[in-house]
Amino acid sequence: MPRPPGLPKLPRMNPPRGNLFIVSAPSGGGKTSLTRAVLARLSERGQEAAISVSYTTRAPRPGEEDGVHYHFVDEARFLDMIGRAELLEHAHVFGRRYGTGRDKTEELLARGVDLMLDIDWQGAQQVRKLLPEARSVFILPPSSEELERRLRGRGQDDDATIQKRMAAAKAEMSHYAEYDFLIVNEDFERALEELTALFLAPRLARGSQASRHAGLIDALLV
Ligand code: 5GP
Repeated sequence: MPRPPGLPKLPRMNPPRGNLFIVSAPSGGGKTSLTRAVLARLSERGQEAAISVSYTTRAPRPGEEDGVHYHFVDEARFLDMIGRAELLEHAHVFGRRYGTGRDKTEELLARGVDLMLDIDWQGAQQVRKLLPEARSVFILPPSSEELERRLRGRGQDDDATIQKRMAAAKAEMSHYAEYDFLIVNEDFERALEELTALFLAPRLARGSQASRHAGLIDALLV
């Protein structure tokens, strides 16, 4: 219906807020390669998306860059950030501290960027409470044997270390039921397609599309 004369026009472009996704998996679940591949797919489509860069007190591994893979900080700085309420969530994982910056998260979402938080189940619980609109997905390995194979494939860890990692993976996986979506990472391409679909779907929600395409809808209905 044409808009009656005299009423102010709707803004032409109203970027909707970005969607927030929590992605958790046991280590060995293939989460890092999957989330990076999803990001590449979304960028190819011109969709603004990012993976949040967490703060951690653990040491960088070979090849990891400060500010790219993590913000590497010491214990004092981390505690200071907690004290100033600068973290959206934080947790102890494998004896080290990990946390997500609050301001950066808010800034990206406000700019319309879809954001992935690669965090553990403890962080996921905290984010769900603060931001109930967050969607969460848990990535499962296809079997215990395959998980163990992937964990062993990572390096020269001894049996005791592998058993510890398997136990940690089981503890992480025991929280699968708290998540909205489950993806079994048996075949990488398939899991990638599934995870990408999860990121695309909320963008197509009517409210989101209507605000993105307000101009088009106006023109179509004249
Ligand atoms: P890694 O040290 O292998 O990079 O990560 C170990 C675990 O810490 C992973 O399960 C990862 O999801 C989790 N993790 C990484 N960053 C964060 C964070 O900011 N918050 C929480 N709660 N967990 C995180």
